[in-house]
Parts: sequence; structure tokens; C-alpha cells
Amino acid sequence: MTGLHDRHRAVIPDWVALYYQRPIEITHGEGRHVWDADGNRYLDFFGGILTTMTAHALPEVTKAVSEQAGRIIHSSTLYLNRPMVELAERVATLSGIPDARVFFTTSGTEANDTALMLATGYRGSNQILAMRNSYHGRSFSAVSITGNRGWSPTSLSPLQTLYVHGGVRTRGPYAQLSDAQFIEACVADLEDILGQTRGGIAALIAEPVQGVGGFTSPPDGLYAAFREVLGRHGILWISDEVQTGWGRTGDHFWGWQAHAESGPPDLLTFAKGIGNGMSIGGVVARAEIMNSLDANSISTFGGSPVTMAAGAANLSYLLEHDLQGNARRVGGLLIERLRAIGAGVASVREVRGRGLMIGIELVKPGTDEANPEAATAVLEAAREGGLLIGKGGGHNTSVLRIAPPLSLTVAEAEEGAAILERALHSV
Ligand code: PMP
Repeated sequence: MTGLHDRHRAVIPDWVALYYQRPIEITHGEGRHVWDADGNRYLDFFGGILTTMTAHALPEVTKAVSEQAGRIIHSSTLYLNRPMVELAERVATLSGIPDARVFFTTSGTEANDTALMLATGYRGSNQILAMRNSYHGRSFSAVSITGNRGWSPTSLSPLQTLYVHGGVRTRGPYAQLSDAQFIEACVADLEDILGQTRGGIAALIAEPVQGVGGFTSPPDGLYAAFREVLGRHGILWISDEVQTGWGRTGDHFWGWQAHAESGPPDLLTFAKGIGNGMSIGGVVARAEIMNSLDANSISTFGGSPVTMAAGAANLSYLLEHDLQGNARRVGGLLIERLRAIGAGVASVREVRGRGLMIGIELVKPGTDEANPEAATAVLEAAREGGLLIGKGGGHNTSVLRIAPPLSLTVAEAEEGAAILERALHSV
């Protein structure tokens, strides 16, 4: 009988990435663990690429979803929808954006696509600034602002995108600079781009911590300095919080708050963890920007009651159990532990991150050269040891990515770190 992997290959496009030489079929999960079809249990340090925000099979979410599904799954976006309005009210307040309006979508991609439509329309320009090494989704416009070439499968952009320095500083001349010098150089680069541009620029879009790019954070002060320059030109700031939202970074509820000197962004996009696996994305913006579209526009499934019920229950759990605080505490312990482990492994160049968003960058020992082979080997070894992690990074995906559900316990953090230590030493 043909296995599921062969059947997958026969019918699913080649460009759909799959992890592991023998890909895993996950059948169920509970808390911070998942099980595969062969009955193996794994500690989940990747949470379905950050979609499982609180915990797998969280009873509160399951109950809310099944109760809502038993009433009605979907009717039409054209009727009033209580679960959508109620969640929008909470997200608007939490966003920190004054006079906020919320538009729900089905994914992060659709959220960013909508943000781009809003920003370009509002500013009357299709010129967008994006960060090098960024990832913003897979629609035609989202790949057009994705600086990470490994995830940008077409170069036929419908937007005029200009890439700004600031996303990565691990290599090249920028790596030698102090934070202050780096910020100065990036601001000069931005001003140079603005000076060469004909007509206005609509917006700059940035991830507060680059996700797919390998969990890299800009130095404190960079985004504030950018916003000071952009503000003089009326250029909007879009914060892509698809990975950094909802307390994942520990110290802050949103990633932009780590750069809060210049206030909330003009537009904020979110997705992933809010639905705990249900497909919710969205955009938040000031009314003046959000209401600037002058024709009808709906997303048939955006704001669907079942996903909204999941989002509401998940958000309540997150807030009531202070999972942001847990991300700060347990993430802080985990990063310390991983740094200690990394210090004893020649191929570990850096262990970095905020909260429960931790990256381990691997290089060829004694060099600064990316080591994607080692990253793949560690991923495989960790899986054999019962731990799921992710991979990322602009330099041939040589960064291990750790982003467990935010309810991770100290004991589980210790257990995962021990498995990773063995995996790192085995390759
Ligand atoms: N923005 C960021 C920062 C992301 O990490 C992702 C997904 N990895 C997206 C947007 C796209 O989200 P989705 O896959 O839900 O379309």
C-alpha cells in the first residue's frame, strides 16, 4: 500500500515545504505535546509554526468551538455577527491604536494584503518599503514585500518594493558596528532610499522580530529612528505582528511595544496564535485609514463565528493565566539554559530571542558561514529524541527556531533543552 508521504507527493505541489526525511503525520495533541500516526509522542517546541498559542486541545477552546458549531458555523458576512463584533472590540482595545477599526481575515497573508491595499490607497502610491530578510505571506502582494528570497517564489511584483537595511546584521560590514553605529548606518540608508524615490512612498512594513528570517530583532532604537524619518514624509508604519503578537515576546503584548518611543503603528496585522490553530487573521488601523476604501470589500470567511469563538476563548485563557508573563519567565530560563548549552557547541554562533521566540544560529565551526546541513541534522536528531522544533533564517535556513505554546512549564523547558543538547552534540 502506498504511504501517505507518496500520496502527498503525487497530489500536492512540489513547492509545499515538508519537514523531515520521513515526514510526520500528527494525529492529536494535548497541552505542549503532540502524537504522530505511529504513536510517538513529541514535546512541541514549534506549536504548528506558532499557531498553538496557549496549548494543544485546550478544553476551553474546544468547548467554545463545538458550542458555536452546534449553533451555526457560518451564515454570511453580510449579516450582523455577534462573536465577530465582540472579539473586534477586545482586539481594538488591546491593539493600543487610537480610534481603532478591526477587519478579520482568514490568514496572515490576507491580513498583510489588506494592509497593503489600505496603505497604498490611503497614500496614493504603490511604493512600499520592506525589510531585508522579511517574510509577510504568500499572496502575490505579500511575496512582493518578502525580502527572504527562499520564500518569495516570484519576482514579478505588483508593487514597487524597496528593501531597507535593519533586518539582519549578523554578517558583512554591518556586523562590525556598535548598535548606535548600526542605527546611524540604517537611517542613512533609509534617507538615501527616500532621496532617490520619485513620488511618495505608502508605508514601511516590518516584523518586530523577524520570524521566518530566523528570530532576529533589530537593535533597540532602530525602529523608533526609522519612524522619526518616515513621519516627516507622512509614510505609514505597518507592524506585522503575525508571529510577535499576543505576548509571545514576553516583555510585551505586541512586538511594536519594544520600540514604543514613537507610539503605536498606523496599521497592525495579526494571525497565527489568536485562533489557537483556527484560521484567524486581521488588520487593525485608525478609522481614518481603515475607512478610506471607497467600495465594498468583504472576506467571506473572515470573522466566521466558529473561528471567532475560538479566538475569544483562547484570548481569555491567555489573559486570565498571564501567559505573556509565563513566556517572559519560562522563556527567560530557557534562553539562559540554551546559551549555556550553546557555549559548549562549536557550531552554535548565537542564541537569541525574546520570550518564547528563541533562535539558535548554526555556523560551520570556526567560521561565520551558515550551516544549513547542521540545522537539518539537529532537527532530525531532535525529532528522534522526541522534540519538534523549527528552522529559519535568510542564510540557507541555518537557524533553529523555538516557539512552544505559551503555557510551557519549567519542567518541559528543561526537558526540551536536554533533548536539544543531545541533538546538538550528536551532529
Ligand atoms: N507574516 C509573518 C511575519 C509570518 O510569519 C507569516 C507566516 N509564517 C505570515 C505573515 C503569513 O501568514 P499566513 O501563513 O497565515 O498567511
